[in-house]
Amino acid sequence: MFRPMVTLTVLILAATVSAQPAPTDPLTRLMAGNARFVAGKSVHANQDRARLTEVAKGQKPFAMILSCADSRVPPEILFDQGLGDLFVVRVAGNIADSHALGSLEYGAQVLGARFLMVLGHEYCGAVNAAVKGEKVGGNIDSIIDVIAPAASRAKADPDQTDLLNKAIAENVREVLSAINKRSPALTAMAAKGELKIVGARYDLDGGDVTLVPGGK
Ligand SMILES: [Zn+2]
Repeated sequence: MFRPMVTLTVLILAATVSAQPAPTDPLTRLMAGNARFVAGKSVHANQDRARLTEVAKGQKPFAMILSCADSRVPPEILFDQGLGDLFVVRVAGNIADSHALGSLEYGAQVLGARFLMVLGHEYCGAVNAAVKGEKVGGNIDSIIDVIAPAASRAKADPDQTDLLNKAIAENVREVLSAINKRSPALTAMAAKGELKIVGARYDLDGGDVTLVPGGK
């Protein structure tokens, strides 16, 4: 009788050790997921049928991401998150137009998300078009026009090395400024400590996400 009890105890201890609680801080949780992705050790949590059934009843995403529509920048994959974890708004150039802001206000005010990351990325075609002053036509130009001021600030830097990356960081800061100016609801939540807003950049070569200096 004694031996099975010992075995059971060991099994319980092993289960306790392996079941590490998820970090509660949203940024820590996102960065931990990104570290798993970069290391090729994504766990793909919350992507099974049980989670599907669970979130069908309601959603409570722990973070919001405003990212580019670029097919190489899917937040759920690069942060190793699952169904119901992230409230994601994607638009070319990760810009904050009124529809994007309305979506984010919904995510914060109605769904209760307390964290927002504006996520730019390496090799962004929208920012590159703005840097080059390209005109593509149609509604595409309305996106490039919004990014143009950030591109101009990057081009005003006497040091023109790494121009595109500078413009990408400037665009993230510009979007954070636009959120601050044009969304009183999000700004008020941030002022009260109910919402944390940060800017970040995704590296397409390495897969890692880093915070943009001056972007929080
Ligand atoms: Zn892009």
